[in-house]
Amino acid sequence: MDKLRSLLGKTDTERILDHNFRNQQDLLPEQDVSDTLIFDRRHVWHPFTQEQTAPDPIEIVAASGMRLQAADGREFLDLISSWWVNIHGHAHPTIAAAIARQAQTLEQVIFAGFTHQPAVQLATELVQRLPQGLTRIFFSDDGSTAVEVSLKIALQYWRNQGESQRTRFLAFTGGYHGDTVGAMSAGRGSHFFDTYGSLLFEVGLLPFPETWEGDTGVEAREQAALTCLETCLADHGNSIAAVIIEPLVQGSAGMRMCRPQFLQALAKRLRAAGILLIFDEVMTGFGRTGALFASLKAQVTPDMICLSKGLTAGFLPMSVTVVREEVYAAFLGETFDRALVHGHSFTANPLGCAAALASLQVFEDEQTLAKLPQIETWQRQGMATLVDHPLVQRVRVMGTIAAFDVVASDAGYSSGIGAKLKAFFHERGLLLRPLGNVVYLLPPYCVEEAELAHAYQVIGQALQTL
Ligand SMILES: *Cc1c(COP(=O)(O)O)cnc(C)c1O
Repeated sequence: MDKLRSLLGKTDTERILDHNFRNQQDLLPEQDVSDTLIFDRRHVWHPFTQEQTAPDPIEIVAASGMRLQAADGREFLDLISSWWVNIHGHAHPTIAAAIARQAQTLEQVIFAGFTHQPAVQLATELVQRLPQGLTRIFFSDDGSTAVEVSLKIALQYWRNQGESQRTRFLAFTGGYHGDTVGAMSAGRGSHFFDTYGSLLFEVGLLPFPETWEGDTGVEAREQAALTCLETCLADHGNSIAAVIIEPLVQGSAGMRMCRPQFLQALAKRLRAAGILLIFDEVMTGFGRTGALFASLKAQVTPDMICLSKGLTAGFLPMSVTVVREEVYAAFLGETFDRALVHGHSFTANPLGCAAALASLQVFEDEQTLAKLPQIETWQRQGMATLVDHPLVQRVRVMGTIAAFDVVASDAGYSSGIGAKLKAFFHERGLLLRPLGNVVYLLPPYCVEEAELAHAYQVIGQALQTL
């Protein structure tokens, strides 16, 4: 960075300072502004951010376990697992060492016509842990592409069997499946992507029967969702390829939870209708809901599962789409047009595979799954301290995830409360990032009781300021 800065010359640096620090009036003349931040403001475009109004980003220089170390000396407790990807804590030495070893042996190789041991071992180990019958692993790079692949597989599965009229997908209101075009289409019900409407394909939307602690209306909501499904089946049954859902917990919609019973009823109905069921477990996978996978917790075996966040324990981008053998078999034949036309430059990257294998090892070494009920108990204890607050609504806890709604006149993702609370939390060293008026905690599994208790205490203080 110093080198870069010297290239600019003094006046350039000053110009950047002038134009790029919106809060510069708050900076004392002698205050040291890191070079990283100067060049960030000059050249970087951050995700899901209105760059004109968002506060300057916080530069993180190191991380370990629950803790993030900022360049200015501040420390943050990472209570959202760095966008839901970290599971065993930051910089876990077992995983770091596995990646380093792999990098010195085989860093990357083309995966069409070639294979390697880390990918094969990872596929085998995942199949052993997933619901029985899900036997084929297709590798890609992130949650969005895992979803894209599942949609393409569904469409071609039918086409290869002479049912090319099956082109429709059903999804759920509030559902989020990623930011690429197909994933955005499947996630139309989130309304994040209305801007890109002209790019998206039609998707039928079913109501998501969310529930929370003390809720008495869930059965009626489930019935309404199933009735809506019946209407779709009656109207378009022969043209539907698949239904996609985030099982048990809709993440981006605000940690909205549904009951296993609903997923069981949905799966049963779709099986009878011969329609594919896709579980987007990109967020719920690898222990989040208290079991290794939400599908295991709900005791439902879908036709496909998408996994990504958590797969490499938050170290490297990688994802998989896992399918039943029968789905895979539909792509076999003598001609290329029956094959799946999909593949990324970095498909099954050996470093990602090594990280994922090391993460599965840590699950065993540290008996991670056995720790999860304890985290759920701490979450419930924390929520018990907030539940009587007049602004707290719809408390919900599942496994390591806990959330509640803050009563707001502008409820939703763009609620002004979110930014206000986030700033309050950051000032107190907590990385919490409300989804609009929904406050949630989704910590790495190395979190300690005192850390969660502290977070709940600060959340309580934040509520007092509203
Ligand atoms: C985050 C997420 C995605 C998208 O994953 P990316 O890695 O961000 O592309 C898809 N589905 C769900 C349920 C997610 O939470």
